Amino acid sequence: MKAYKNFIGGRWISSNSKETFDSLDPATEVSIGKFQDSNGLDVELAVEAAEKSFQEWSDFPAPKRAEFLFRIRDLLIENKERLARLEVKEMGKVYKEALGDVQEAIDIFEYMAGEGRRLFGFTTPSELKNKFCATIRRPIGIVALITPWNFPIAIPSWKLAPALICGNSVILKPSSDTPLCAIELVKILNEAGIPKGVVNLITGSGNTVGTSLVTHQKIHAVSFTGSVETGKFITKNAGLKKIGLELGGKNAIIIMEDANLELALEGVLWGAFGTTGQRCTAASRIIIHETVAKKFENMLINSTKKLRLGSGLSKTTDIGPLINRKAVEKSDYYTNLGLKEGAKLLIGGKPLSSKGFFYQPTIFTNVNHNMRIAQEEIFGPVLSIIKIKNIDEAIEVCNNIKQGLSSSIYTENMQYAFKAINKIDSGITYINSSTIGAEVHLPFGGVKETGNGTREAGWTGIEEFSEIKTIYLDYSDKLQKAQGITD
Ligand code: NAP
Repeated sequence: MKAYKNFIGGRWISSNSKETFDSLDPATEVSIGKFQDSNGLDVELAVEAAEKSFQEWSDFPAPKRAEFLFRIRDLLIENKERLARLEVKEMGKVYKEALGDVQEAIDIFEYMAGEGRRLFGFTTPSELKNKFCATIRRPIGIVALITPWNFPIAIPSWKLAPALICGNSVILKPSSDTPLCAIELVKILNEAGIPKGVVNLITGSGNTVGTSLVTHQKIHAVSFTGSVETGKFITKNAGLKKIGLELGGKNAIIIMEDANLELALEGVLWGAFGTTGQRCTAASRIIIHETVAKKFENMLINSTKKLRLGSGLSKTTDIGPLINRKAVEKSDYYTNLGLKEGAKLLIGGKPLSSKGFFYQPTIFTNVNHNMRIAQEEIFGPVLSIIKIKNIDEAIEVCNNIKQGLSSSIYTENMQYAFKAINKIDSGITYINSSTIGAEVHLPFGGVKETGNGTREAGWTGIEEFSEIKTIYLDYSDKLQKAQGITD
């Protein structure tokens, strides 16, 4: 069994702990490799390496840093199919979705490379004569990137690309469920010539490596994507670091009485069961007008029956496995809870007994919006159908959750659509499309417990990884005081 190492200061090295852990193929439960179970000493080494490299990297003009990012983009294109196959092996999603994940990485490196020739600041007039005012962007310093497993190449890339173009040095801690995808990504960054120590990677547990990064005095910022629970831990323990949080969701698709039901059906299947329901933007609630609910339920049951579970590498598979045993248990826990709460199970509701972490696509109807299955993020293929009488009730139910990431409405009515745009509490709203499908040049993130107000990707991705400096340049040759002070 191959043992993979940490990448620190441009070298692949073993952890001080001398311990390793396995990453499993979720479709077969077979280990795909051993990984360093790192500790605080490894974090110290990575911080030292990042500190050493920071000056040189941040001194490169941003358009020169961009040249590295364009090379990374090209190498990702060359390696797209290989990386996608690896992602299926390690994370379980179906091959065509894995190709999409790598494409997101390609897109974000390309977009952020373009930022190398922007990184815009502002100029604005001074209130005084012969004085010039402007802002410029500066890197933050050493940034810790802590990532989940569900987009094991795209999410690290969504952080690496803006962090690098802004001139930071980084330490990446990937999810312990998908360390190999991160290692293969970092190999590509290394091959593209990123100077030693600018990108460091440490594998190991969130409790040990994650906590050491979050609390380390010399780390200036933490960019985190993962659960609300870990996000709250980071907020409490990171001190005065700059923090970016992209957390969970309990996203809804609203289907109104005038909706194109065939179109909505496609969107619901893709939103609820794509990536086996393990997207932060997955649709786990359908809020549907009571007059079309029965018809839509029948359509949905018929289509769901046809979905085939299996290895993501097989061309006939629609739904891959869940990430691990705990995830199967979680989906099963919520299925049993839904039954206890009085919801009606329409289809599914069982793990598959064969090898691998498979769970049937599961649909509940007659769900009350206050039930826990309609409130809590399950992160599996479990969907709740809630019936409503009008658009105002639909929006009220949609908003009656703690998080606010994505949302969607199917309707032909402009008034309904604009009510959804203006009134739904979420970072993203789709009209006549599913809750998923983010594009890298637009801001991504959510409100309420989904985060702390940062937005990744697009122009806002730059905000997270840079500091603003305000410049006052006085060429009057005398001391001029602002606010009208004369003496
Ligand atoms: P998680 O358990 O919070 O883990 C995410 C990362 O944090 C992993 O690398 C984990 O390490 C690390 N971690 C765990 N405890 C830590 C601690 N005390 N200090 C620092 N780091 C720690 O989340 P997950 O299960 O991987 O991911 C699923 C969640 O991510 C869902 O809630 C989903 O909605 C959310 N998500 C959000 C977005 C978004 O953009 N809003 C995107 C994707 C996913 P280990 O793996 O070693 O535990």
